[in-house]
Amino acid sequence: MLNHSLLHPKSIVVVGGSNDVQKPGGAVLRNLIEGKFKGKLYVTNLKESEVQGITSFRDPSLLPEADLAIIAIASKFIPETVKVLANTKNTKAFIILSAGFSEEGEEGRKLEHEIVDIVKSANAVLIGPNCIGVLTPDYHGIFTKPVPMLDPHGCDFISGSGATACFIMEAGIPNGLKFANVFSVGNSAQIGVEEILEWLDENFDPEQSSRVKLLYIENISKPQMLLKHASSLIRKGCRIAAVKAGSSEAGSRAASSHTGAFASPDLAVDVLFRKAGIVRCYGRQDLISVASVFMHPQLKGKNIAIITHAGGPAVMLTDALSNNGMAVPKIEDPAAQDLAAALFPGSSVANPIDFLATGTAGQLGMIIDYCDKIFGDIDGMAVIFGTPGLNRVFDVYNILDEKMRSAGKPIYPILPSVMMAREEISEFIKKGRVFFPDEVVFGNALARVFNTPAPASYSEKIRIDTPAIRSIIDASPDGYLAPAAIQGLLDASGIPRAGEAVVTGREEAVKAALSLGFPVVMKVVGPVHKSDVGGVVVNVRDEMTVLKEFDRMIRIRDTHAVLVQPMLAGTELFAGAKLEPGFGHIILCGMGGIFIEVFKDVAAALAPLSEKEAFAMIRSLKSYKIIQGARGHKGVNEDAFAGILIRLSALLQAAPEITELDLNPLLGDENTIRAVDARIRIMRGR
Ligand code: ADP
Ligand code: MG
Repeated sequence: MLNHSLLHPKSIVVVGGSNDVQKPGGAVLRNLIEGKFKGKLYVTNLKESEVQGITSFRDPSLLPEADLAIIAIASKFIPETVKVLANTKNTKAFIILSAGFSEEGEEGRKLEHEIVDIVKSANAVLIGPNCIGVLTPDYHGIFTKPVPMLDPHGCDFISGSGATACFIMEAGIPNGLKFANVFSVGNSAQIGVEEILEWLDENFDPEQSSRVKLLYIENISKPQMLLKHASSLIRKGCRIAAVKAGSSEAGSRAASSHTGAFASPDLAVDVLFRKAGIVRCYGRQDLISVASVFMHPQLKGKNIAIITHAGGPAVMLTDALSNNGMAVPKIEDPAAQDLAAALFPGSSVANPIDFLATGTAGQLGMIIDYCDKIFGDIDGMAVIFGTPGLNRVFDVYNILDEKMRSAGKPIYPILPSVMMAREEISEFIKKGRVFFPDEVVFGNALARVFNTPAPASYSEKIRIDTPAIRSIIDASPDGYLAPAAIQGLLDASGIPRAGEAVVTGREEAVKAALSLGFPVVMKVVGPVHKSDVGGVVVNVRDEMTVLKEFDRMIRIRDTHAVLVQPMLAGTELFAGAKLEPGFGHIILCGMGGIFIEVFKDVAAALAPLSEKEAFAMIRSLKSYKIIQGARGHKGVNEDAFAGILIRLSALLQAAPEITELDLNPLLGDENTIRAVDARIRIMRGR
């Protein structure tokens, strides 16, 4: 947990402060001085009595008390220094910039642990080591540049990489993006991204706190903590965007089921972010663009008016928006004709609203007013306005700023002339505005923000037979469950399945087939992939065939019994789950057959699943139209499918030992859906 000494220190000591601003100890001191830190500032330096005009002590033991220590000396000297400060100088916060810790090997790891122990026993906090520091409106405790404009309502930014933090700020500053607090967590020895989010959540102040949080994460070590505090912050009105780097790990590692193959660790990040309501980004520009969208009022609907003086960018933006689930609706309001009459001949008011290269500031103001107050089916405006170098556009950007202040709907400024209108843009930014240099990058970012669902809330009370589930799990050994256990689990969870019988003798097989009713399906019990070993025969119509197939199947390797099921008809669907350590169970669903094999059309979500999430999963499938019924084919009962997903989720909550579960296929029609093949694997002590 962060503390007051870290966030609002009254005194700071730079341990290893230097006159050389090319060294971290010199640069951080320079930034603190330039940032006009209002409290007391001290330095320790072995040789100097004054450094950059600040009183310097040769030894930490000679220092007065200091709330926060920013440390830039060699790693091996740090534990001793921290001990002195923590025990005798009442120092409750440490930022260690130095490297040479766990990132370098065993020695460093020990050193790091030693420091964490000292810090913990003093009830203090530690940021780093191996980081660029912390930046708050109170003090500039980083050793790098740029130092962005700090504004309590700018972005709170937490980064797992120091250099990347610099580059992200560098990408955002020219667009007018401001920052509130910046934390570089380095090795996260004590405080990581999750702990900072926790603090931001628990100390959120609706008046004072920033509502935009940006994260650059390399490791999610506490996914549930991230989920908890990110979704809580979003529910309090914050917006969060995050880059999770290192996502390309060979996803489909060898797994025994479809679910296993699809549920890569990166998918886990995806489903975690979606459940939390975090907008996932994939690079610096991406993060900056989404952050810039966040800096504007929240868009209430998907209909955008594009207001432009140049055709090309408007067309590209129309494409970007329409291809991503947003709309640029034709404006059919009769009042549009009044607007057209006030513009130059040749202007178009259909949307995009093109008021030509000669369009004026006054006309822009008028168009915005029409879109804001008169045209009912417009939710937001994107204004594209640059200059080909013929005239200045100060007046246009002034009007834009005024309207952004007064309009009820969000207005997004796309200002492409970053060279020719540099001064105008700079004036615009000085008014506190953020702009977008590129319309397509903007369009994609806006759509991503709009399409990210609100944090999921779970309150389903599905009735399942938990005691029955527990007794089956507790009686089963680790590994793949036997057919009887699987049947028991599905029945206890209320997941419909085909009737079936497991037989070990040929006469018994015939009896089972007769009682289930021909035609039947026969399957080997034992092999994991039954079809692959010739272990599934469908449409068995008579006793002779049952006997023949039984004799053949029972000799297939690893087979110890034969399963007989009635032959069912229906559309093939699948549902499954996989345990991703730390994250929990990822639930997947889709249509069976080529839809997963070829099109990889799979929807995923993190358990536990709400009804809303279950339906959202089904509706996000590319093959959803087939589930609904298309081109003369009857569809599948969507409620029943969602019900199975929710029951599956409840089963996983009752039996967290399940590491993999596959219902593949489920056969469904417009009335019912039933599982005809289920595979469940359990593992204790995870
Ligand atoms: P595996 O996945 O181990 O190969 P399945 O039990 O899924 O074995 O059977 C393979 C295929 O046979 C299924 O995908 C489905 O198309 C068909 N099938 C299996 N059981 C039935 C059944 N009871 N009714 C109709 N078709 C079935
Ligand atoms: Mg199967």
